[in-house]
Amino acid sequence: MQHIRNIAIIAHVDHGKTTLVDKLLAQSGTFRENQKVAERAMDSNDLERERGITILAKCTAVNWKDTRINIVDTPGHADFGGEVERILNMVDGVIVLVDAAEGPMPQTKFVVSKALKLGLRPIVAINKIDKPEARANEVVNEVFDLFAALDATDEQLDFPILYGSAKQGWMSKDPDGPKDSLGPMFDLVLEHVAPPKTEEGSFRLLGTILEANPYLGRIVTGRITSGTVKPNQSFKVLSADGKVIEQGRISKVLGFRGLERVPVDIAEAGDIVAIAASVGRAAGVVLRARIGAGGVGGAGGVGGTGGAGAMSGAGGIGGIGGNGGNAGNGGAAEAGGTNGNGGAGGAAGDGDGFSSHDADSVYYYDNLAHHNVNTGFANIGTSTGRIWN
Ligand code: GDP
Repeated sequence: MQHIRNIAIIAHVDHGKTTLVDKLLAQSGTFRENQKVAERAMDSNDLERERGITILAKCTAVNWKDTRINIVDTPGHADFGGEVERILNMVDGVIVLVDAAEGPMPQTKFVVSKALKLGLRPIVAINKIDKPEARANEVVNEVFDLFAALDATDEQLDFPILYGSAKQGWMSKDPDGPKDSLGPMFDLVLEHVAPPKTEEGSFRLLGTILEANPYLGRIVTGRITSGTVKPNQSFKVLSADGKVIEQGRISKVLGFRGLERVPVDIAEAGDIVAIAASVGRAAGVVLRARIGAGGVGGAGGVGGTGGAGAMSGAGGIGGIGGNGGNAGNGGAAEAGGTNGNGGAGGAAGDGDGFSSHDADSVYYYDNLAHHNVNTGFANIGTSTGRIWN
């Protein structure tokens, strides 16, 4: 099994996260290798499709020595409280990246506090120390004070510190350098962040990010807590209370390699992967559509927007959930025109409505113990490749 580390980088906007990840990619050499893999594995059309869906699952993977480091993106602020928690549940460590001149910003407090509450041991990286107005030592103290104010444990307060310049491509335990590479950051991640915890048993995955894709079907990104996963494997989706909600078949297992998601033959416990699945349409599977806001969600389709109401008539009918794409809110209807009634909810799409906004789709989320995609029953359906609909 390959060595893995799962981390998140927490940074206020403009403190240099993108620059840092770019340089980590460049210095790990992962990116170029990957592109070759991707070109071999898929025709150009497919590649474009894959590219088009990388937006939601913001995970980047770099190799350092014999270890793959999955870097999960976190929103820098608190717009999506639940999302932050779910994402942080996938990782075992965080890098808190702070501008050496600006210091920690209040907007990152929420995410940092979540990370500390989850027991993650932070690495603090003071970035942009090349700036003339850098005040690295003061900023370290400010970070310490922030962590302390957020009830960090003694162990968390004893954080390792790196200083450097993402722009210049270096980080070092000493502000004076060496200023030649991000090696010290890679090494510190391997040393300070625990390898992912795994459990015994068959395949289970804690689903964290959901998307629907017209070509690949539903895609769930998450961390494999036990077992291994391969394409064509059958699975069950379990609810928070352990009930089987759906079952289906995995069409693709996508690993993160550099900036790309590439199909892999197998993925193991501890890794973060995206799984494309056909759900509910294979032979023998009982479909359970769920009620979304304003109607039953479409077949993974973008829920249409309700038609605008006529001047004084009834509001429009909510759009029919299309095939593929994100099942919005099952075609939420817009308010009708003047005097009009609100539009009717979206018509049922032709398949299982799925939306991360559906009230009961939360079964994928939150609590490690409960949210699994589980295998353990005979293969169902055909093996003719993807079943999109
Ligand atoms: P993000 O919003 O956190 O992803 O920040 P970016 O990576 O986009 O960086 C924001 C700006 O800061 C860009 O103009 C970068 O070139 C600049 N920047 C990033 N790292 C450094 C650094 O180490 N030193 C200096 N001087 N500028 C940097």
